[in-house]
Amino acid sequence: MATSCPACGCLREGGLRLTVCGDPACCCQEINARTSLERMAAEVSAAFQARDLRAFGELLADDARWGDDTASNRCRSRSEVIDTFRRQLSAGVEGQVSAAEVGPAGILCQLAFTSPAGGAGARPGTVFHLYRVRGGRIAEIEPFADRGPALAALGAGRRGGRKPGKRS
Ligand SMILES: [Zn+2]
Ligand SMILES: [Zn+2]
Repeated sequence: MATSCPACGCLREGGLRLTVCGDPACCCQEINARTSLERMAAEVSAAFQARDLRAFGELLADDARWGDDTASNRCRSRSEVIDTFRRQLSAGVEGQVSAAEVGPAGILCQLAFTSPAGGAGARPGTVFHLYRVRGGRIAEIEPFADRGPALAALGAGRRGGRKPGKRS
């Protein structure tokens, strides 16, 4: 059930804001708004569909992160994230958003992809990307092999604790 914040009046439900009060002193600014997440999810899908890395880049925070500190191919900026996607595209990887949902942490996209398998034909696969949204931008990309742990992370909101089922 939706409840309105007693301090500022923002309407909240399920860890998201349904309405935004517009007060500059709003105490709920850290809580993602459902409508803006849904708009971003549509923009992510469109960017994948069009293979438009510039459009995708506009959704990213300047210091967007992808991969743990121990990952060899970790990204710590918008341009590193874009370069990584560009390398995958030029290696022949094709990806489309096949499903997307929103939650307190941001946007969870199910990506259907095919990667070239050394001349043996395309190899299809599925990966889940949790796009963690802060301040209206994607601040972090967190990949998951399975939907269960990805959904749990989407619902848990802000990052913290262990992330079971995570892909590096
Ligand atoms: Zn508010
Ligand atoms: Zn509030």
